[in-house]
Amino acid sequence: MPTEEYQKIWEKIKYQLQLTMDEDVYNEHFLGISTVFKVINNSIYLISPNSFVKSKIESFYLNRLNAMLNEYVGEKHLFKIITKEQAAEELTKLSNYEINTPEQGLDNKYKTGLNNSYTFDNFVVGSSNRLAYTSAMKVADQPGVVANPLYIFGDVGLGKTHLMQCVGNYILENDVNKKVLYVKTDQFIEDYARAAQKKTFDEFSKKYENVDILLVDDIQFLSGKTQSQLEFFKIFEKLKENNKQIVITSDRPASELYEIMSRLTSRFEWGLSVDINRPNLEHRILILKKKLQAETADPDLIPEDILDYIASIFDNNVRELEGALKRVLFYCTAFDYKFTIANAEEALKNLVNSKNISNKTIEKSNFNNVLDIVSSYYNISTTDLLSKKRKRQYVYPRQVSMYILKDLFDLTYKKIGQIFNNRDHSTVIYSIEQISNDMQTDKAKKGDIDKLLIKCGKKA
Ligand code: ADP
Ligand code: MG
Repeated sequence: MPTEEYQKIWEKIKYQLQLTMDEDVYNEHFLGISTVFKVINNSIYLISPNSFVKSKIESFYLNRLNAMLNEYVGEKHLFKIITKEQAAEELTKLSNYEINTPEQGLDNKYKTGLNNSYTFDNFVVGSSNRLAYTSAMKVADQPGVVANPLYIFGDVGLGKTHLMQCVGNYILENDVNKKVLYVKTDQFIEDYARAAQKKTFDEFSKKYENVDILLVDDIQFLSGKTQSQLEFFKIFEKLKENNKQIVITSDRPASELYEIMSRLTSRFEWGLSVDINRPNLEHRILILKKKLQAETADPDLIPEDILDYIASIFDNNVRELEGALKRVLFYCTAFDYKFTIANAEEALKNLVNSKNISNKTIEKSNFNNVLDIVSSYYNISTTDLLSKKRKRQYVYPRQVSMYILKDLFDLTYKKIGQIFNNRDHSTVIYSIEQISNDMQTDKAKKGDIDKLLIKCGKKA
């Protein structure tokens, strides 16, 4: 049966659903599903607008849909749900495949290896990745000109692959005829091994030397692979000579690469090296908000304090942070639970050991303690400390206590503002900056504040 026939069946089923379901439920789950993407081996693939709708349908409605389907076609047929992104990805793969068949040649398009959901747009910038981001932007804007190679390094899960792929996607968006090739280092090594085995070096060099942009991910895996290193060296020289852009990522600076020949590592330092660090709390919350936007139609679906909570626990890897968000999202929607801290804790309990949580969950008594210590040190009352009075004798201790709260507990500016009679977060940022400046320029003040920090519980 041709796909159009299945399309018609889906439309009939959809109409039945509309008649029998609560309107809100129907609109939320099925209204947005209009297309039968493909039919393979009796599996009928429907495209859902996002992974949130996909998982809800899979948990609650799939059996019912399949039962309805069986009334039109034999029992073997099943619906499968995929997201828009998955469908788009498959289409790119498919078109690459077609284009790369011998009859059509490699003329116009090129198998890129890119995932087009990694864009500059959805990369959240903060102090930990700003330099890497702006460098990548400049390189994408003028490939081969600004920095060649661009070498991006940092720990796992901090966005290196994402950022590198942004460069490729951006370049292609502006010029579809550019040949961009993204390759994981493992893949490169495998390609080379295959070429060596089958004596197909021509094909191998053509694949790698015939590009405008070469993106090589996780170069540390070249470690110990001498032959692949030599081969990569040749490719590097050739591309560089022709001003073709090279972008490399790694888990460490080039100077610390292990068992990679120095003529390569020194070349990695020819262009620009930028690192990506761990995002701070504010930055992690922004990342969560961005990811939430991508997952659901309603960006306010999860209240801010839950996002704060997730961000405060998952502090060293964006991939895990993202995973935690998806888990909470799924847990609460699948069971129709409210988004509360308790439910979030429950959803995440397998991911975090309890020690971790209790260390990081900020007890109210902890910051009250800070407020007590600071106010008695400066001989004022806690009420005055928290008040909006503008006299210098209150303002300065207030700024100091904000600084200490940030330093000790990494609370958000917003949260600190709330503690101090709902002050605006910009006031908090300003206050903390004032004290940071003092700490750098005024030894006496620095001595005072260091002492206070220790009194409040900071480890010396
Ligand atoms: P790495 O290559 O450094 O191990 P990835 O690029 O694979 O890390 O990132 C892991 C996940 O975290 C990806 O889903 C990526 O989209 C996400 N991510 C990392 N940093 C950011 C950021 N600044 N903004 C948005 N998403 C990010
Ligand atoms: Mg990576």
